[in-house]
Amino acid sequence: MTQHASNLSRRSVLGAGLGAIAAGPLMGCANLGGGPSIGRVVIVGGGFGGATAARYLRQWGGNVDVTLVERNASFVSCPISNLVLSGDKQMGEITLSYAGLEALGVKRIQGEVVAIDAQTKQVRLADGRTLPYDRAIVAPGVDFMFDQVGGLATAAAQDKFLHGWKAGPQTAALRRRLEAMPDGGVFAVAIPKVPYRCPPGPYERACLVASYFKQYKPRSKVLVLDANPEITSKKGLFEKAFADHYKGIIEYRGNNELKQVDAASGTAKLEFDDVKADVLNVIPPQRAGDIARTAGLINMNNRWVGVNWLTLESTAVPGIHVLGDATFSAPAMPKSGNMANQHAKVAAAAIIQLLKGQPVDPAPVVMNTCYSFVTAREAVHVASVHQYDAADKTFKTVPGSGGLSSAASQIEGRNAMGWAENIWADMLAT
Ligand SMILES: Cc1cc2nc3c(=O)[nH]c(=O)nc-3n(C[C@H](O)[C@H](O)[C@H](O)COP(=O)(O)OP(=O)(O)OC[C@H]3O[C@@H](n4cnc5c(N)ncnc54)[C@H](O)[C@@H]3O)c2cc1C
Repeated sequence: MTQHASNLSRRSVLGAGLGAIAAGPLMGCANLGGGPSIGRVVIVGGGFGGATAARYLRQWGGNVDVTLVERNASFVSCPISNLVLSGDKQMGEITLSYAGLEALGVKRIQGEVVAIDAQTKQVRLADGRTLPYDRAIVAPGVDFMFDQVGGLATAAAQDKFLHGWKAGPQTAALRRRLEAMPDGGVFAVAIPKVPYRCPPGPYERACLVASYFKQYKPRSKVLVLDANPEITSKKGLFEKAFADHYKGIIEYRGNNELKQVDAASGTAKLEFDDVKADVLNVIPPQRAGDIARTAGLINMNNRWVGVNWLTLESTAVPGIHVLGDATFSAPAMPKSGNMANQHAKVAAAAIIQLLKGQPVDPAPVVMNTCYSFVTAREAVHVASVHQYDAADKTFKTVPGSGGLSSAASQIEGRNAMGWAENIWADMLAT
Protein backbone atom coordinates (compact mmCIF):
# COMPACT_ATOMS: atom_id res chain seq x y z
CA MET A 1 0.00 0.00 0.00
CA THR A 2 1.21 3.54 -0.60
CA GLN A 3 2.34 5.56 2.40
CA HIS A 4 -0.64 7.84 1.89
CA ALA A 5 -3.18 5.04 1.88
CA SER A 6 -1.56 3.12 4.72
CA ASN A 7 -1.94 6.15 6.97
CA LEU A 8 -5.70 6.14 6.56
CA SER A 9 -7.98 3.79 8.38
CA ARG A 10 -9.98 1.35 6.29
CA ARG A 11 -13.19 3.15 7.15
CA SER A 12 -11.95 6.58 6.16
CA VAL A 13 -10.54 5.27 2.87
CA LEU A 14 -13.88 3.67 2.01
CA GLY A 15 -15.87 6.63 3.24
CA ALA A 16 -13.83 9.03 1.17
CA GLY A 17 -13.96 6.67 -1.76
CA LEU A 18 -17.68 6.27 -1.96
CA GLY A 19 -18.65 9.82 -1.19
CA ALA A 20 -15.77 11.80 -2.56
CA ILE A 21 -17.41 13.83 -5.25
CA ALA A 22 -17.95 17.52 -5.16
CA ALA A 23 -21.73 17.47 -5.07
CA GLY A 24 -21.67 20.86 -3.41
CA PRO A 25 -24.62 22.03 -1.35
CA LEU A 26 -26.68 18.96 -2.21
CA MET A 27 -24.56 16.62 -0.12
CA GLY A 28 -26.44 15.42 2.91
CA CYS A 29 -29.68 17.22 2.06
CA ALA A 30 -32.22 14.43 2.24
CA ASN A 31 -35.62 15.35 0.86
CA LEU A 32 -37.62 12.16 0.84
CA GLY A 33 -41.12 13.01 -0.25
CA GLY A 34 -43.07 16.10 0.73
CA GLY A 35 -43.71 19.00 -1.62
CA PRO A 36 -44.39 18.82 -5.32
CA SER A 37 -42.06 16.75 -7.50
CA ILE A 38 -39.47 18.75 -9.45
CA GLY A 39 -39.48 16.21 -12.29
CA ARG A 40 -39.59 12.63 -13.56
CA VAL A 41 -36.42 10.65 -14.16
CA VAL A 42 -36.55 7.20 -15.77
CA ILE A 43 -33.43 5.08 -15.29
CA VAL A 44 -32.60 2.17 -17.59
CA GLY A 45 -30.45 -0.44 -15.83
CA GLY A 46 -30.09 -1.14 -12.12
CA GLY A 47 -26.38 -1.95 -11.94
CA PHE A 48 -23.63 0.07 -10.24
CA GLY A 49 -24.48 3.24 -12.18
CA GLY A 50 -28.28 3.10 -12.39
CA ALA A 51 -28.97 1.92 -8.83
CA THR A 52 -26.65 4.56 -7.34
CA ALA A 53 -28.31 7.30 -9.40
CA ALA A 54 -31.77 6.13 -8.27
CA ARG A 55 -30.74 6.33 -4.65
CA TYR A 56 -29.16 9.77 -4.76
CA LEU A 57 -31.84 11.34 -6.97
CA ARG A 58 -34.30 10.42 -4.22
CA GLN A 59 -32.02 11.35 -1.37
CA TRP A 60 -30.51 14.58 -2.58
CA GLY A 61 -33.43 16.64 -3.46
CA GLY A 62 -36.68 17.99 -4.68
CA ASN A 63 -38.83 14.89 -4.37
CA VAL A 64 -37.72 13.66 -7.79
CA ASP A 65 -40.07 11.04 -9.24
CA VAL A 66 -37.66 8.16 -9.98
CA THR A 67 -38.51 5.00 -11.94
CA LEU A 68 -35.83 2.32 -12.28
CA VAL A 69 -36.28 -0.28 -15.03
CA GLU A 70 -34.08 -3.37 -14.66
CA ARG A 71 -34.51 -6.68 -16.47
CA ASN A 72 -33.32 -8.79 -13.53
CA ALA A 73 -35.20 -9.39 -10.28
CA SER A 74 -32.09 -8.83 -8.13
CA PHE A 75 -28.70 -7.19 -8.45
CA VAL A 76 -25.86 -9.66 -9.02
CA SER A 77 -22.37 -8.22 -8.44
CA CYS A 78 -19.47 -8.78 -10.84
CA PRO A 79 -17.00 -7.70 -8.13
CA ILE A 80 -16.43 -10.78 -5.89
CA SER A 81 -17.85 -13.06 -8.64
CA ASN A 82 -14.38 -14.50 -9.35
CA LEU A 83 -14.47 -15.85 -5.77
CA VAL A 84 -17.61 -17.78 -6.76
CA LEU A 85 -15.60 -19.39 -9.58
CA SER A 86 -12.96 -20.51 -7.08
CA GLY A 87 -15.62 -21.88 -4.72
CA ASP A 88 -14.78 -19.39 -1.96
CA LYS A 89 -18.15 -17.57 -2.21
CA GLN A 90 -21.65 -18.62 -3.20
CA MET A 91 -23.99 -16.93 -5.70
CA GLY A 92 -26.26 -15.95 -2.79
CA GLU A 93 -23.44 -13.82 -1.35
CA ILE A 94 -23.23 -11.64 -4.49
CA THR A 95 -26.99 -11.46 -5.14
CA LEU A 96 -28.72 -8.48 -3.51
CA SER A 97 -32.24 -7.07 -3.31
CA TYR A 98 -33.58 -3.75 -4.57
CA ALA A 99 -35.82 -3.37 -1.49
CA GLY A 100 -33.70 -0.55 0.01
CA LEU A 101 -34.25 1.60 -3.09
CA GLU A 102 -37.98 0.90 -3.01
CA ALA A 103 -38.07 1.97 0.64
CA LEU A 104 -36.60 5.31 -0.50
CA GLY A 105 -39.51 5.76 -2.91
CA VAL A 106 -37.86 4.51 -6.11
CA LYS A 107 -40.50 2.92 -8.38
CA ARG A 108 -38.90 -0.29 -9.61
CA ILE A 109 -40.11 -2.05 -12.71
CA GLN A 110 -38.68 -5.43 -13.66
CA GLY A 111 -38.69 -5.28 -17.43
CA GLU A 112 -36.76 -4.81 -20.67
CA VAL A 113 -36.41 -1.37 -22.20
CA VAL A 114 -36.60 -1.71 -26.00
CA ALA A 115 -36.71 1.91 -27.18
CA ILE A 116 -36.30 5.51 -26.06
CA ASP A 117 -38.04 8.30 -27.97
CA ALA A 118 -36.07 11.46 -27.23
CA GLN A 119 -38.56 13.64 -29.17
CA THR A 120 -41.61 12.69 -27.10
CA LYS A 121 -39.43 11.88 -24.06
CA GLN A 122 -40.71 8.37 -23.49
CA VAL A 123 -39.07 5.08 -22.58
CA ARG A 124 -40.77 2.01 -24.07
CA LEU A 125 -40.76 -1.43 -22.47
CA ALA A 126 -40.99 -4.81 -24.20
CA ASP A 127 -44.47 -5.31 -22.75
CA GLY A 128 -45.66 -2.15 -24.54
CA ARG A 129 -45.76 0.16 -21.54
CA THR A 130 -44.37 3.68 -22.02
CA LEU A 131 -42.84 5.81 -19.31
CA PRO A 132 -42.68 9.60 -19.82
CA TYR A 133 -39.60 11.42 -18.50
CA ASP A 134 -38.16 14.87 -18.08
CA ARG A 135 -34.64 13.40 -18.01
CA ALA A 136 -33.60 9.81 -18.68
CA ILE A 137 -30.57 7.91 -17.44
CA VAL A 138 -29.19 5.02 -19.48
CA ALA A 139 -26.78 2.77 -17.56
CA PRO A 140 -26.89 -0.55 -19.42
CA GLY A 141 -23.30 -1.69 -18.89
CA VAL A 142 -21.73 -3.53 -21.82
CA ASP A 143 -22.87 -5.96 -24.45
CA PHE A 144 -20.57 -8.28 -26.35
CA MET A 145 -19.25 -8.05 -29.92
CA PHE A 146 -19.48 -11.78 -30.53
CA ASP A 147 -18.95 -11.30 -34.25
CA GLN A 148 -15.39 -10.09 -33.61
CA VAL A 149 -14.31 -13.68 -32.85
CA GLY A 150 -14.83 -16.09 -35.74
CA GLY A 151 -17.34 -18.84 -34.95
CA LEU A 152 -18.61 -17.15 -31.76
CA ALA A 153 -21.76 -15.58 -33.22
CA THR A 154 -23.89 -18.74 -32.84
CA ALA A 155 -25.89 -19.64 -29.74
CA ALA A 156 -24.15 -23.05 -29.63
CA ALA A 157 -20.70 -21.43 -29.52
CA GLN A 158 -21.76 -18.91 -26.86
CA ASP A 159 -23.10 -21.77 -24.77
CA LYS A 160 -19.87 -23.72 -25.18
CA PHE A 161 -17.49 -20.81 -24.55
CA LEU A 162 -18.98 -18.93 -21.60
CA HIS A 163 -17.83 -15.38 -20.79
CA GLY A 164 -18.91 -15.08 -17.16
CA TRP A 165 -18.38 -11.34 -17.68
CA LYS A 166 -21.89 -10.40 -16.50
CA ALA A 167 -22.42 -11.92 -13.10
CA GLY A 168 -25.40 -14.27 -13.02
CA PRO A 169 -26.24 -17.63 -14.58
CA GLN A 170 -22.95 -17.73 -16.52
CA THR A 171 -20.95 -17.34 -13.31
CA ALA A 172 -22.71 -20.35 -11.78
CA ALA A 173 -22.36 -22.36 -15.02
CA LEU A 174 -18.64 -21.62 -15.29
CA ARG A 175 -18.15 -22.77 -11.70
CA ARG A 176 -19.95 -26.04 -12.47
CA ARG A 177 -17.69 -26.61 -15.48
CA LEU A 178 -14.58 -26.06 -13.36
CA GLU A 179 -15.92 -28.55 -10.81
CA ALA A 180 -16.63 -31.09 -13.55
CA MET A 181 -13.18 -30.65 -15.14
CA PRO A 182 -10.82 -33.60 -14.54
CA ASP A 183 -7.62 -33.12 -12.56
CA GLY A 184 -4.95 -32.56 -15.19
CA GLY A 185 -7.29 -30.49 -17.38
CA VAL A 186 -6.73 -27.02 -18.83
CA PHE A 187 -8.76 -23.85 -18.13
CA ALA A 188 -8.01 -21.11 -20.67
CA VAL A 189 -9.21 -17.51 -20.41
CA ALA A 190 -9.13 -15.34 -23.53
CA ILE A 191 -8.84 -11.59 -22.84
CA PRO A 192 -9.86 -8.99 -25.47
CA LYS A 193 -7.88 -5.87 -26.33
CA VAL A 194 -8.53 -2.84 -24.13
CA PRO A 195 -10.91 -1.13 -23.51
CA TYR A 196 -13.03 -3.75 -21.74
CA ARG A 197 -14.96 -3.91 -18.44
CA CYS A 198 -12.66 -4.22 -15.39
CA PRO A 199 -9.07 -4.28 -16.71
CA PRO A 200 -7.61 -6.39 -13.82
CA GLY A 201 -10.60 -8.78 -13.67
CA PRO A 202 -9.28 -11.48 -16.03
CA TYR A 203 -5.95 -11.75 -14.17
CA GLU A 204 -7.79 -11.97 -10.83
CA ARG A 205 -9.85 -14.75 -12.41
CA ALA A 206 -6.69 -16.60 -13.51
CA CYS A 207 -5.29 -16.37 -9.96
CA LEU A 208 -8.48 -17.58 -8.29
CA VAL A 209 -9.09 -20.49 -10.66
CA ALA A 210 -5.43 -21.45 -10.13
CA SER A 211 -5.95 -21.21 -6.37
CA TYR A 212 -8.86 -23.67 -6.68
CA PHE A 213 -6.77 -26.03 -8.84
CA LYS A 214 -3.81 -25.84 -6.46
CA GLN A 215 -6.00 -27.14 -3.66
CA TYR A 216 -8.36 -29.53 -5.46
CA LYS A 217 -6.93 -30.37 -8.92
CA PRO A 218 -3.18 -29.90 -8.58
CA ARG A 219 -2.27 -31.35 -11.98
CA SER A 220 -4.46 -28.82 -13.81
CA LYS A 221 -3.31 -25.71 -15.64
CA VAL A 222 -4.53 -22.15 -16.30
CA LEU A 223 -3.67 -20.65 -19.67
CA VAL A 224 -4.04 -16.86 -20.01
CA LEU A 225 -4.45 -15.86 -23.67
CA ASP A 226 -4.13 -12.09 -23.73
CA ALA A 227 -4.83 -10.07 -26.88
CA ASN A 228 -2.88 -7.24 -25.25
CA PRO A 229 0.93 -7.19 -25.38
CA GLU A 230 1.16 -7.41 -21.60
CA ILE A 231 -0.95 -7.51 -18.40
CA THR A 232 -3.13 -4.40 -18.59
CA SER A 233 -3.46 -3.53 -14.88
CA LYS A 234 -1.40 -4.10 -11.70
CA LYS A 235 1.14 -5.85 -13.92
CA GLY A 236 3.99 -6.31 -11.43
CA LEU A 237 1.64 -7.47 -8.68
CA PHE A 238 -0.01 -10.09 -10.88
CA GLU A 239 3.35 -11.27 -12.23
CA LYS A 240 4.53 -11.72 -8.66
CA ALA A 241 1.35 -13.63 -7.73
CA PHE A 242 1.76 -15.91 -10.77
CA ALA A 243 5.40 -16.61 -9.78
CA ASP A 244 4.94 -16.88 -5.99
CA HIS A 245 1.73 -18.88 -5.83
CA TYR A 246 1.05 -20.45 -9.21
CA LYS A 247 4.41 -21.43 -10.73
CA GLY A 248 3.78 -24.35 -13.06
CA ILE A 249 0.01 -23.76 -12.93
CA ILE A 250 -0.52 -20.41 -14.70
CA GLU A 251 1.00 -19.85 -18.11
CA TYR A 252 0.67 -16.28 -19.41
CA ARG A 253 0.83 -15.52 -23.14
CA GLY A 254 0.71 -11.87 -24.26
CA ASN A 255 -0.09 -10.83 -27.85
CA ASN A 256 -2.33 -13.89 -28.18
CA GLU A 257 -5.57 -12.64 -29.65
CA LEU A 258 -8.33 -15.19 -30.03
CA LYS A 259 -9.26 -15.25 -33.72
CA GLN A 260 -11.59 -18.22 -34.08
CA VAL A 261 -13.41 -20.81 -32.01
CA ASP A 262 -14.86 -24.12 -33.08
CA ALA A 263 -17.78 -25.22 -30.92
CA ALA A 264 -17.79 -28.78 -32.30
CA SER A 265 -14.15 -29.57 -31.44
CA GLY A 266 -13.89 -27.11 -28.52
CA THR A 267 -10.72 -25.60 -30.00
CA ALA A 268 -9.54 -22.01 -30.25
CA LYS A 269 -7.44 -20.55 -33.04
CA LEU A 270 -4.91 -17.89 -32.17
CA GLU A 271 -2.62 -15.85 -34.40
CA PHE A 272 0.15 -18.44 -34.47
CA ASP A 273 -1.16 -21.71 -33.06
CA ASP A 274 -4.24 -23.57 -31.88
CA VAL A 275 -5.30 -24.29 -28.32
CA LYS A 276 -7.53 -26.98 -26.90
CA ALA A 277 -8.79 -26.42 -23.37
CA ASP A 278 -11.20 -28.42 -21.22
CA VAL A 279 -12.87 -25.15 -20.22
CA LEU A 280 -12.34 -22.22 -22.57
CA ASN A 281 -13.59 -18.95 -21.08
CA VAL A 282 -13.93 -16.38 -23.86
CA ILE A 283 -14.28 -12.75 -22.76
CA PRO A 284 -15.36 -11.13 -26.04
CA PRO A 285 -14.67 -7.52 -27.09
CA GLN A 286 -17.29 -5.17 -25.68
CA ARG A 287 -19.30 -2.05 -26.46
CA ALA A 288 -22.04 0.00 -24.77
CA GLY A 289 -25.15 -2.06 -24.00
CA ASP A 290 -27.67 -2.70 -26.79
CA ILE A 291 -30.20 -0.09 -25.67
CA ALA A 292 -27.55 2.63 -26.08
CA ARG A 293 -27.25 1.62 -29.71
CA THR A 294 -31.03 1.39 -30.27
CA ALA A 295 -31.47 4.84 -28.73
CA GLY A 296 -28.85 6.36 -31.07
CA LEU A 297 -26.47 7.18 -28.22
CA ILE A 298 -23.32 5.48 -29.54
CA ASN A 299 -21.14 8.11 -31.18
CA MET A 300 -17.56 7.15 -30.26
CA ASN A 301 -15.65 4.53 -32.30
CA ASN A 302 -18.95 2.84 -33.08
CA ARG A 303 -18.76 1.36 -29.56
CA TRP A 304 -19.18 3.88 -26.78
CA VAL A 305 -21.25 6.91 -25.73
CA GLY A 306 -19.71 10.37 -25.57
CA VAL A 307 -20.88 12.42 -22.59
CA ASN A 308 -20.59 15.94 -21.18
CA TRP A 309 -18.58 15.09 -18.05
CA LEU A 310 -20.20 17.85 -15.96
CA THR A 311 -23.64 16.26 -16.28
CA LEU A 312 -23.05 12.85 -17.94
CA GLU A 313 -25.56 13.98 -20.59
CA SER A 314 -25.07 12.28 -23.94
CA THR A 315 -23.36 14.38 -26.62
CA ALA A 316 -25.58 12.65 -29.20
CA VAL A 317 -29.08 12.85 -27.70
CA PRO A 318 -30.12 15.72 -25.38
CA GLY A 319 -31.99 14.86 -22.18
CA ILE A 320 -30.43 11.40 -21.83
CA HIS A 321 -27.60 10.90 -19.33
CA VAL A 322 -25.33 7.86 -19.71
CA LEU A 323 -23.33 6.29 -16.89
CA GLY A 324 -20.73 3.63 -16.26
CA ASP A 325 -19.18 1.16 -18.64
CA ALA A 326 -21.24 2.40 -21.60
CA THR A 327 -19.41 5.75 -21.69
CA PHE A 328 -16.36 6.60 -23.78
CA SER A 329 -13.92 6.74 -20.87
CA ALA A 330 -12.02 9.88 -19.96
CA PRO A 331 -8.21 9.45 -20.07
CA ALA A 332 -7.02 6.79 -17.56
CA MET A 333 -10.57 6.31 -16.26
CA PRO A 334 -11.31 2.60 -15.76
CA LYS A 335 -14.55 0.82 -16.60
CA SER A 336 -15.35 -0.23 -13.05
CA GLY A 337 -18.24 -0.51 -10.64
CA ASN A 338 -16.61 2.10 -8.42
CA MET A 339 -16.37 4.53 -11.34
CA ALA A 340 -19.99 3.87 -12.42
CA ASN A 341 -21.05 4.67 -8.84
CA GLN A 342 -19.12 7.96 -9.04
CA HIS A 343 -20.55 8.85 -12.47
CA ALA A 344 -23.99 8.32 -10.95
CA LYS A 345 -23.34 10.78 -8.13
CA VAL A 346 -22.13 13.50 -10.53
CA ALA A 347 -25.16 12.88 -12.77
CA ALA A 348 -27.69 12.79 -9.90
CA ALA A 349 -26.40 16.07 -8.49
CA ALA A 350 -26.40 17.68 -11.96
CA ILE A 351 -29.88 16.42 -12.89
CA ILE A 352 -31.36 17.85 -9.69
CA GLN A 353 -29.77 21.22 -10.51
CA LEU A 354 -31.00 21.08 -14.12
CA LEU A 355 -34.54 20.20 -13.02
CA LYS A 356 -34.42 23.18 -10.68
CA GLY A 357 -33.01 25.44 -13.41
CA GLN A 358 -29.86 26.05 -11.42
CA PRO A 359 -26.16 25.80 -12.44
CA VAL A 360 -24.37 22.47 -12.05
CA ASP A 361 -21.15 21.92 -10.10
CA PRO A 362 -18.40 23.22 -12.44
CA ALA A 363 -15.56 21.19 -10.85
CA PRO A 364 -16.54 17.63 -9.91
CA VAL A 365 -13.95 15.17 -8.58
CA VAL A 366 -14.34 11.38 -8.71
CA MET A 367 -12.19 8.52 -7.52
CA ASN A 368 -11.70 4.82 -8.07
CA THR A 369 -10.29 1.98 -6.02
CA CYS A 370 -10.09 -1.41 -7.58
CA TYR A 371 -9.18 -4.45 -5.50
CA SER A 372 -8.15 -7.81 -6.94
CA PHE A 373 -7.82 -11.05 -5.03
CA VAL A 374 -4.63 -12.93 -5.90
CA THR A 375 -5.42 -15.80 -3.50
CA ALA A 376 -8.66 -16.60 -1.67
CA ARG A 377 -7.53 -14.30 1.16
CA GLU A 378 -4.94 -11.87 -0.20
CA ALA A 379 -5.72 -8.87 -2.38
CA VAL A 380 -4.01 -5.89 -4.03
CA HIS A 381 -5.43 -2.52 -5.06
CA VAL A 382 -4.96 0.37 -7.44
CA ALA A 383 -6.53 3.76 -6.74
CA SER A 384 -6.88 7.01 -8.69
CA VAL A 385 -8.50 10.44 -8.33
CA HIS A 386 -9.91 12.26 -11.38
CA GLN A 387 -10.72 15.97 -11.52
CA TYR A 388 -12.72 17.82 -14.18
CA ASP A 389 -10.50 19.92 -16.43
CA ALA A 390 -12.50 22.89 -17.71
CA ALA A 391 -10.07 23.66 -20.56
CA ASP A 392 -10.20 20.18 -22.07
CA LYS A 393 -13.75 19.39 -20.85
CA THR A 394 -12.81 15.99 -19.49
CA PHE A 395 -11.68 14.31 -16.28
CA LYS A 396 -7.94 14.02 -15.75
CA THR A 397 -6.05 12.17 -13.04
CA VAL A 398 -4.79 14.37 -10.22
CA PRO A 399 -0.97 14.22 -10.22
CA GLY A 400 0.36 12.40 -7.16
CA SER A 401 -3.04 11.03 -6.18
CA GLY A 402 -4.00 7.40 -5.89
CA GLY A 403 -1.54 4.56 -5.59
CA LEU A 404 -0.81 0.90 -5.90
CA SER A 405 -0.23 -1.80 -3.28
CA SER A 406 3.41 -2.54 -2.61
CA ALA A 407 2.50 -6.18 -1.97
CA ALA A 408 -0.50 -8.45 -1.63
CA SER A 409 -1.78 -8.96 1.91
CA GLN A 410 -4.59 -10.43 3.95
CA ILE A 411 -5.37 -6.95 5.31
CA GLU A 412 -6.09 -5.86 1.76
CA GLY A 413 -8.19 -8.99 1.33
CA ARG A 414 -10.36 -7.85 4.25
CA ASN A 415 -10.43 -4.30 2.84
CA ALA A 416 -11.54 -5.68 -0.52
CA MET A 417 -14.56 -7.39 1.08
CA GLY A 418 -15.22 -4.20 3.07
CA TRP A 419 -15.10 -2.20 -0.17
CA ALA A 420 -17.66 -4.53 -1.77
CA GLU A 421 -20.02 -4.50 1.20
CA ASN A 422 -19.81 -0.70 1.44
CA ILE A 423 -20.44 -0.02 -2.24
CA TRP A 424 -23.36 -2.50 -2.32
CA ALA A 425 -24.87 -0.69 0.70
CA ASP A 426 -24.21 2.69 -0.93
CA MET A 427 -25.84 1.86 -4.27
CA LEU A 428 -28.75 -0.20 -2.94
CA ALA A 429 -29.47 1.95 0.14
CA THR A 430 -29.31 -0.92 2.60
C1 LIG B 1 -15.29 -10.60 -13.01
C2 LIG B 1 -15.46 -9.13 -12.78
C3 LIG B 1 -14.91 -8.53 -11.64
C4 LIG B 1 -15.07 -7.17 -11.41
N1 LIG B 1 -14.53 -6.63 -10.28
C5 LIG B 1 -14.66 -5.31 -10.05
C6 LIG B 1 -14.14 -4.74 -8.85
O1 LIG B 1 -13.53 -5.42 -8.02
N2 LIG B 1 -14.31 -3.40 -8.65
C7 LIG B 1 -14.99 -2.63 -9.54
O2 LIG B 1 -15.13 -1.43 -9.29
N3 LIG B 1 -15.50 -3.14 -10.70
C8 LIG B 1 -15.35 -4.45 -10.97
N4 LIG B 1 -15.87 -5.00 -12.12
C9 LIG B 1 -16.48 -4.10 -13.13
C10 LIG B 1 -17.94 -3.75 -12.80
O3 LIG B 1 -18.73 -4.89 -12.62
C11 LIG B 1 -18.54 -2.91 -13.93
O4 LIG B 1 -17.64 -1.90 -14.29
C12 LIG B 1 -19.86 -2.31 -13.48
O5 LIG B 1 -20.81 -3.36 -13.33
C13 LIG B 1 -20.37 -1.25 -14.45
O6 LIG B 1 -21.56 -0.70 -13.94
P1 LIG B 1 -22.71 -0.25 -14.97
O7 LIG B 1 -23.79 0.36 -14.15
O8 LIG B 1 -22.14 0.50 -16.10
O9 LIG B 1 -23.22 -1.64 -15.59
P2 LIG B 1 -23.86 -2.89 -14.85
O10 LIG B 1 -23.46 -2.95 -13.43
O11 LIG B 1 -23.57 -4.05 -15.73
O12 LIG B 1 -25.42 -2.60 -14.88
C14 LIG B 1 -26.15 -2.58 -16.08
C15 LIG B 1 -27.58 -3.06 -15.76
O13 LIG B 1 -28.46 -2.68 -16.81
C16 LIG B 1 -29.38 -3.73 -17.04
N5 LIG B 1 -29.87 -3.54 -18.41
C17 LIG B 1 -29.14 -3.41 -19.53
N6 LIG B 1 -29.93 -3.18 -20.59
C18 LIG B 1 -31.20 -3.16 -20.12
C19 LIG B 1 -32.47 -2.97 -20.74
N7 LIG B 1 -32.56 -2.75 -22.06
N8 LIG B 1 -33.58 -3.02 -19.99
C20 LIG B 1 -33.49 -3.27 -18.64
N9 LIG B 1 -32.31 -3.45 -18.00
C21 LIG B 1 -31.19 -3.40 -18.73
C22 LIG B 1 -28.56 -4.99 -16.81
O14 LIG B 1 -29.37 -6.10 -16.52
C23 LIG B 1 -27.65 -4.58 -15.64
O15 LIG B 1 -28.23 -4.92 -14.40
C24 LIG B 1 -15.76 -6.38 -12.36
C25 LIG B 1 -16.31 -6.96 -13.50
C26 LIG B 1 -16.15 -8.32 -13.72
C27 LIG B 1 -16.77 -8.93 -14.95
